[in-house]
Amino acid sequence: MKIAMVGTGYVGLVSGACFADFGHQVVCVDKDAGKIEALKRGKIPIYETDLDKLVETNAAAGRLTFTTELAGAVADADAVFIAVGTPSRRGDGHADLSYVYAAAKEIGAALKKFTVVVTKSTVPVGTGDEVERLIRETNPDADFAVASNPEFLREGAAIQDFRHPDRIVVGTEDDRAKRVMGEVYRPLYLNQAPILYTARRTAELIKYAANAFLATKITFINEIADLSERVGANVQEVARGIGLDNRIGTKFLHAGAGYGGSCFPKDTRALFKTALDHDVQLKIVEATLTANDNRKRAMARKVANVLGGELRGKTIGVLGLTFKPDTDDMREAPSIPLINGLIDFGAKVRAYDPIGMEQARKELPEIEYCKDAYECARQADALVIVTEWRQFRALDLKRIKQEMKHPVVVDLRNIYRPDEMAAHGFTYDSIGRPR
Ligand code: NAD
Repeated sequence: MKIAMVGTGYVGLVSGACFADFGHQVVCVDKDAGKIEALKRGKIPIYETDLDKLVETNAAAGRLTFTTELAGAVADADAVFIAVGTPSRRGDGHADLSYVYAAAKEIGAALKKFTVVVTKSTVPVGTGDEVERLIRETNPDADFAVASNPEFLREGAAIQDFRHPDRIVVGTEDDRAKRVMGEVYRPLYLNQAPILYTARRTAELIKYAANAFLATKITFINEIADLSERVGANVQEVARGIGLDNRIGTKFLHAGAGYGGSCFPKDTRALFKTALDHDVQLKIVEATLTANDNRKRAMARKVANVLGGELRGKTIGVLGLTFKPDTDDMREAPSIPLINGLIDFGAKVRAYDPIGMEQARKELPEIEYCKDAYECARQADALVIVTEWRQFRALDLKRIKQEMKHPVVVDLRNIYRPDEMAAHGFTYDSIGRPR
C-alpha cells in the first residue's frame, strides 16, 4: 500500500514509521519545514522510545520519506491519513478543527485516483461528514471515501501500542475503503488485533468515549484518595482491592496530581461541548473536568500545607515536569499549574526533568533548571515528585537529605513508601495514604 501521512507529530510520525515497518510505502508530510528537514537528516523532533531506530531503518530501506509537498504525496497514495493537531479552541473548549479542514481541502485538490482519506486525528462526531463535503467542494470529480480511524496509542509506549493495539477501529460503510483499510492493517490483525468496522460517526465517538472513561476512572480514584486521607485509609490498597475485581480492572487506578497531557484534558472538554451542542448533558464528564482542574490547582496548596501553610521565601525542588514519564510532552502537564501556584505563594522553584526541560522552558521560563535530582534538592525546603520517571524511583535518599535545607518530600505519585521515608528521617506526604 502507498500511504501519505499528513501531519508528522507524535501520532503521524509513529504511525508513519510503523506502517513503513509493516512494509508499506509511506510519505510523511508536514507544514513545518524545520521538522521535515530535521527528519531528512535523521533527527527525530520528539522523544519517543525506539522511534529513532525505527525511522532510521525504514528510511534507509526507502520505505519512509519526508516532505513538505502534500500534493505529490497524496496523488500517488491509496490511503491518506490526516494526523494533524486538534487542540482545544481558545475560549470555548471545542476541538479546533481548522488544521483538519485546511488539510482536507489541500488533500481534495491533490486527489488523482480512488483514495481513502482517513481521519486519525481525534475529531468530534460529524467531522468526517464535513471533511467529505470539503473535499467534494474542492474537487467535485474526485473519487474518494472518508473513513475514521482513531488512534489509541500512548506517548511513551507509542510504538509498542501501535504494534499491539487492543483493537483497531475503522469507521466507514464504503466497501472499497474497508478493503484498503483491511490491507493497511493486515500485518496487525494477522497478530490477532481485532479490527472493528463501524459507522463513521460511531468510530469518532468511540475515541472520545474511551478517553472520557479513562479520565473519569483517574478522577474517581483521585477523589477516593482525598477521602482516604481524611479517614485514614490507604488509596493504593483501596485501588488494588477494587481493581482485582475483573469488572473494574487494575489499570488507571493510580491516584496522583490530576490527569494532563495532549489528549485527556482537551478531549474531555471537546466531548462535553459536543454533547451540549446536541442538547445532551454529560454530567459525569462535566464533574470529571471540574474535579481535575480543581485538583491540579490544589497541589500547590498541598505542598504549602506540608510546610505549615507558608511558602514565601521558601525554595521548592520539583522532580519531573512532563505530563508522564518517557515523553518530552509538556502539554497540560500538572507540573505547570503546580509550579505557577508555588510561585504565586511566593516560593522560588527549581526543577529537573530527564527529557522535558527544553519543552518546559517555553511554558515555565522563570524557574531555575537543574542538571540532576540532587542539584534540584540542594538547599530546598521541600522536594516535590511530580512525574514518576524511573530514575526518581531509586534516588539515593541519604544524599538527597544531605543536599536539602529541610528534609521534606511531597510525593504526588506515591513512588516511595511512607515507612521507608520516615526511616530516612524525611517529613513525607503523598497522595491518599496515611502520613
Ligand atoms: P502534534 O502537534 O504533535 O502534530 C501535528 C502535526 O501536524 C504538526 O507537526 C503540524 O506541523 C502538522 N500540521 C498541521 N497542519 C498541517 C497541514 N495542513 N499539513 C501538514 N502538516 C500539518 O499532534 P499529535 O500529538 O500527533 O496529535 C495529532 C492528533 O492525534 C490529534 O488529534 C490528537 O488528539 C490525536 N492523538 C494524539 C495522541 C498522542 O498521544 N499525542 C494519541 C492519540 C490521538
